[in-house]
Amino acid sequence: MQVQTILNADLHCHSVVSDGTLTPEALAQRAKTNGVELWALTDHDEIGGQQRAAAAAKALDLLYLTGTEISVTFASETVHIVGLGFDADDVGIQQGLRSTRGGRNQRAMEMSDSLAKAGIAGAYDGAVKFAGNPDLISRTHFARFLVESGVCRETNEVFRKYLTEGKPGYVPHRWASLRDAVTWITQAQGVAVIAHPGRYNFTPNEEYALFTEFKAHGGRAVEVVTGSHTKQEFVKYAETAKEFGLAASRGSDFHSPEESRTDLGTLPFLPDGLTPVWELLAGRIR
Ligand code: AMP
Ligand code: MN
Ligand code: MN
Ligand code: MN
Repeated sequence: MQVQTILNADLHCHSVVSDGTLTPEALAQRAKTNGVELWALTDHDEIGGQQRAAAAAKALDLLYLTGTEISVTFASETVHIVGLGFDADDVGIQQGLRSTRGGRNQRAMEMSDSLAKAGIAGAYDGAVKFAGNPDLISRTHFARFLVESGVCRETNEVFRKYLTEGKPGYVPHRWASLRDAVTWITQAQGVAVIAHPGRYNFTPNEEYALFTEFKAHGGRAVEVVTGSHTKQEFVKYAETAKEFGLAASRGSDFHSPEESRTDLGTLPFLPDGLTPVWELLAGRIR
């Protein structure tokens, strides 16, 4: 395909295979309806939806890149690394993601115990009911249960009151290393992307270290335009992309019609003067 900077690419969203509420097929249809021209499904720590997403995109004449969003622990914080355009049949990334999913069930049981002590019973079973993939119980599923049971009015409130550091339902977890996540993606011929950098609570020094180490491990791009960034952050991370010589990505991080503020394909285009990540992946687009 002809590489363009002005392209309605949406390279970040979630299906029922992780913590979204729509199937890969419904997301493909929604992306198409919303005018998306290049799409990627990026389920958390999972590529089980990739074949369905790619097939649905093809049937709709929608260009597709494989995707995932890997949970990483860096400087005691959780950082997300998006992988794009990798070979989904690569054994290294499959095994790596399986290992990083491994601790989720234990963590969910501990979260449930912790919530029980705060007076909320049955949270494990409640969260499991919302999980489309038993291998991928996430905080989002707990949040949906707490909304359903009337403890909170919306998922955001659940995160604020229960599921973030220092709150009763929060259980610290050690995810993959930055090096491992970037290596799994790049060895499978994909491009690693720092997801929504504006969301982390890093000091300027820690953020500098994240970008520096990410590059040293072979990372090549950063999300500039994402549903998690403010307009000021679009500008800030466009500058960071240039400073570090990284390509830029664009993605809504859409999870659900009821919960997500940003719908598929509705963000502003990438700012001028950046290399779009799809330029690095031209040969991997299906
Ligand atoms: P986990 O991977 O189980 O730790 O869950 C992380 C997921 O929780 C993220 O991918 C988001 O979908 C969701 N999340 C995190 N913080 C918030 C928040 N403040 N409001 C709503 N959802 C959130
Ligand atoms: Mn999520
Ligand atoms: Mn994320
Ligand atoms: Mn995401």
